[in-house]
Amino acid sequence: MHESHPTPLVWLTHSASVSIVAEVVRAGALETGGLLVGYWSGEADVVVTDATRPGPLAAHAEDTYVPDADHDELAMARLYAASGRRHAYLGDWHSHPRGGVGLSERDRRTLLTIATSAQARAPVPLMGIVVPSPSALTIAFWRLCPQTTRRVELCRAHSPVSDRR
Ligand SMILES: [Zn+2]
Repeated sequence: MHESHPTPLVWLTHSASVSIVAEVVRAGALETGGLLVGYWSGEADVVVTDATRPGPLAAHAEDTYVPDADHDELAMARLYAASGRRHAYLGDWHSHPRGGVGLSERDRRTLLTIATSAQARAPVPLMGIVVPSPSALTIAFWRLCPQTTRRVELCRAHSPVSDRR
């Protein structure tokens, strides 16, 4: 099999990228994260209209981030309603202050869990990994490839955004 699939593009709105940058700067050496909200545009492209910030009960450590599930659920419900039910849950983002943009084993398991959860309603979930450095901030987006949902095979999506404030 040597099919060529279009590289998925992830479009971040300005407010979504500002939200991520502000939260990553605030968290400093600790991992942080939130939800990715928006809509798929065709087969491959996805528009992230909002990136939420963590709730007060989220746990932040140097190598883990555990979300505040109740806060995230409420935030998602608000964004869904405010968009006239057009913007849905796409997946999660979190930072790797000490690592690279690759997914950890735990990240892969999380993606699979979301993909197979009927409640999440995101069969092809996205995961955004943010790596801060003093001069720039790199965001890589990952997702389960739709044609291989039984395996944890990941496509890497590139974001055309480069936020320089
Ligand atoms: Zn991770």
